[in-house]
Amino acid sequence: MSQALTVAKFGGTSVADFDAMNRSADVVLSDSSSRLVVLSAAAGVTNLLVSLAKGPEQAQRVFMLDEVRRIHHAIIERLAQPQIICDEIDRMLENITMLSEAAALATSNALTDELVSHGELMSSLLFVEILRQRGVNAQWFDIRKIMRTDDHFGRAEPDTLTLAELAGTQLKPRLDEALMVTQGFIGSEVKGRTTTLGRGGSDYTAALLGEALYASRIDIWTDVPGIYTTDPRIVPGAKRIDEITFEEAAEMATFGAKVLHPATLLPAVRNGIPVFVGSSKAPQAGGTRVCLESANPPLFRALALRRKQTLLTLHSLNMLHARGFLAEVFSILARHNISVDLITTSEVSVALTLDTTGSTSTEDNLLTQSLLTELSSLCRVEVEENLALVALIGNNLSQARGVGKEVFGVLEPFNLRLICYGASSYNLCFLVPGDDAEQVIQTLHNNLFD
Ligand code: ASP
Ligand code: MG
Repeated sequence: MSQALTVAKFGGTSVADFDAMNRSADVVLSDSSSRLVVLSAAAGVTNLLVSLAKGPEQAQRVFMLDEVRRIHHAIIERLAQPQIICDEIDRMLENITMLSEAAALATSNALTDELVSHGELMSSLLFVEILRQRGVNAQWFDIRKIMRTDDHFGRAEPDTLTLAELAGTQLKPRLDEALMVTQGFIGSEVKGRTTTLGRGGSDYTAALLGEALYASRIDIWTDVPGIYTTDPRIVPGAKRIDEITFEEAAEMATFGAKVLHPATLLPAVRNGIPVFVGSSKAPQAGGTRVCLESANPPLFRALALRRKQTLLTLHSLNMLHARGFLAEVFSILARHNISVDLITTSEVSVALTLDTTGSTSTEDNLLTQSLLTELSSLCRVEVEENLALVALIGNNLSQARGVGKEVFGVLEPFNLRLICYGASSYNLCFLVPGDDAEQVIQTLHNNLFD
């Protein structure tokens, strides 16, 4: 029988600097099943690279390039033998400089992905070097050799069949020889050009690799010790959830709990691979286990918040045509590659928010002028900005009695702009004015969770 495999993924703050990388190395080395490590770029680096890809003017460019260099050289300097890796990192930094000069002349999504991928390439090179200098047999693996995606730069879709095949031949055999270290977030399309899976995509990479390699666990190491009943920055008394089901965690990720990338759980669910979320700063503090079943799932599990929601209300211009109205609205949205998030309808109008989950690396705005123009030819369009989506995640919500009273009773002082309830038994969602969002979350948490 083959050895158990855990895929261990470390986010940006877990590889932010030399000390963070060493703490993450400790975490890896403390568990002999952790034989594949997936890394994000060091904290802040992807943001800098995304900005550089927009082709800023020279002074800004130089400043940002210095910043990228400083972050990586600060790690190199702390190595016992810095010279081994210094040249290789410097070559990457030169590439970044060249690509950002090219971006200043003419940028593109393909160039952005190429540029942005250097964050993960560098963090993984440095992490391997840290492990090696600690005497560990670690090897760097370029994930682009196996993470085949389509060419939707900025938010590419992985081809899981090809990945499984390539991972089986190129990566799997090497797991028995060395501790393998690779990059999250990046991939390559069929012609070999670099792609990215969308911001925060490293979690997704880890889960896809877990699936491709029949891992027995996927560990997501971040800077918070697990998944909480709500964001502890908003409600300091939020409680850590020790065990949660895939469905609940997927709802939380989709509705804005930042801990997991929304697509992460799909490969895990497909294969029933348990996911663990913990903090590399405090591994002893434990974390959250996400698994198929949890004992006694509660009616109310968590509250998630997604800010900056835009609500479109579309009023049909012609009552007589109202019959095919929704079909037309949806076909326009589909042509613009937009999926709808929340929706409520009346006879002649429909109110909806656009699905912004898994934003792209290129930061395009979903609500484009051409979409608005096309919608306006069909209906009168009203746009309301700065709303916040509050999602109450739970179990059997649509079957339970008294949920409406319990939830909305305590929200009397607030304006609820739109409510969605009943389609899923795992959530109840509504929109509130952006400025009220935190108070709404606090009020609900105090009343439903304490
Ligand atoms: N470094 C990428 C980002 O910041 C991917 C990740 O961290 O998961 O979006
Ligand atoms: Mg991240």
